[in-house]
Amino acid sequence: MYPAKFTYHAPWSVEEALGLMAEHEDSKLIAGGHSLLPTMKMRLATPAHLIDMKNLRSLLSYVHDKGDHIAIGALTTYQQILDSSLIQQNAAIIAQTVAEVGDIQVRNMGTLGGSIAHADPAGDPPAAILASDATMVIQGSGGERTVAAGDFFQGFFETAVGAGDILKEIRVPKQSGGSSYQKFKHPASGYAVAGVAVCLTKDGSNIGSVRVGVTGVSDGAYRASAVEDALSGQAFSEALAASAAAHAVEGIDALEDPFADAAYRGQLAKTLAKRAIIAAWNNA
Ligand SMILES: Cc1cc2nc3c(=O)[nH]c(=O)nc-3n(C[C@H](O)[C@H](O)[C@H](O)COP(=O)(O)OP(=O)(O)OC[C@H]3O[C@@H](n4cnc5c(N)ncnc54)[C@H](O)[C@@H]3O)c2cc1C
Repeated sequence: MYPAKFTYHAPWSVEEALGLMAEHEDSKLIAGGHSLLPTMKMRLATPAHLIDMKNLRSLLSYVHDKGDHIAIGALTTYQQILDSSLIQQNAAIIAQTVAEVGDIQVRNMGTLGGSIAHADPAGDPPAAILASDATMVIQGSGGERTVAAGDFFQGFFETAVGAGDILKEIRVPKQSGGSSYQKFKHPASGYAVAGVAVCLTKDGSNIGSVRVGVTGVSDGAYRASAVEDALSGQAFSEALAASAAAHAVEGIDALEDPFADAAYRGQLAKTLAKRAIIAAWNNA
């Protein structure tokens, strides 16, 4: 299938890209193209202007140590993340999660910024963004702003990145404890039927801080705060992990599709949450 006709642009600066978006209301940015191109080919998206960010890679593809956090440029590919020792050592949950995305071709082209700006409800990276408590840097016509992970994902393919905005950077606080991402893949697409990312710290034999991000289950990724509340400050045991994980879909309307009904998806989320809590504790 071929996409509808569009005019192609390849700006050399963020300002030029912002100007093109302001000039052409019916425009779309393209990063790795691994979500946008399929939707264009299916004619689910028919932008009249395509703004390719390939010439912005030298500006927006990087991993930097910023002291208390790791700054990841929005155009950094999954493979560059997996190759980064800075991320492996300081923001392991991001690497653990992107390792589960697609296959080698997808990981060579897809970008972290593209994934979270797209916010596919079955996408893996949003779970890690929530569990790591990352902050997103967005530039629009009114200047630059930062948005906390908790305010970034706003529902079905909806985020704080508005029309005319560019997501520039993802800031991931350095991790001090353990983490794990557990996923149940759809057998055909490989996307998450359910995926759970956990970051936690140890306080002796107790759990210190804990954040749990869930994807695949609802119309957008979410923090499982009832699981976090059940774990925080408690003495760790596998029984505690299981009883806390039972809250993984509390207050959530689980998605249904021909592969997984809501009850099955919910059960997967609970099982994966338990596994992720135990694995994160064991590597803390
Ligand atoms: C065969 C296949 C298998 C896949 N499997 C998985 C999987 O298992 N798990 C998973 O999570 N994903 C999977 N994906 C999707 C993949 O992760 C995509 O790469 C990702 O969702 C989007 O990143 P991208 O760089 O390709 O973005 P694009 O497709 O280029 O863009 C996606 C959307 O985000 C917008 N956008 C992109 N970058 C920015 C930016 N910096 N600022 C503002 N808006 C921006 C675009 O305008 C577009 O609307 C798969 C894709 C394919 C083709």
